[in-house]
Amino acid sequence: MDFKKFVRDVNDFPKQGVVFKDITPLLKNPEALQKANEAMLQLLDSQKIDYVVGMESRGFFFAPMLAARLQAGFIPVRKNGKLPHDTITASYSLEYGDDTLEMHTDSISKGDRVLIHDDVLATGGTARAVCDMVEKLGGEVVQCVFLLEIKALKGEEKLNGFKVTSLMEY
Ligand code: 5GP
Repeated sequence: MDFKKFVRDVNDFPKQGVVFKDITPLLKNPEALQKANEAMLQLLDSQKIDYVVGMESRGFFFAPMLAARLQAGFIPVRKNGKLPHDTITASYSLEYGDDTLEMHTDSISKGDRVLIHDDVLATGGTARAVCDMVEKLGGEVVQCVFLLEIKALKGEEKLNGFKVTSLMEY
């Protein structure tokens, strides 16, 4: 399936000069939604995953779907101040601005095998912060899988040492 047909470019969002990859057409199409999930599963080296970790907000679309198919659990990474229990925090710089992400400290235990998912890999700052948090909690980052990767922003370099795969590359 040509998944790129379902990704549209939006100019100057969220700010002037940025070309935003909008995946909502892919989410809206029943066949594309299902097949994109299955295609990401096909990209995994190992199906032996304990938890899929997904980032707020757009990582939440597919991470629970991937987890359900892998018979794994889903763990949310949220923006600062949103999680109710004790958290671990990581600050990171984004294509457009800075942000802080949090995970519950009891979400991952030593030796857990973790798959990281987000919709887009851009500069890699977000995913790197999440990988670092998972490792700090004792988890093993088995692979990072993205719906799409913006190659020119070299996110893969920031994720040096981690297995990175994307369904679409731009
Ligand atoms: P990074 O930290 O890799 O620079 O940025 C990735 C994060 O920003 C992801 O959480 C992703 O949702 C968001 N992001 C950055 N650029 C885009 C884009 O063009 N389209 C979408 N959908 N998300 C983006």
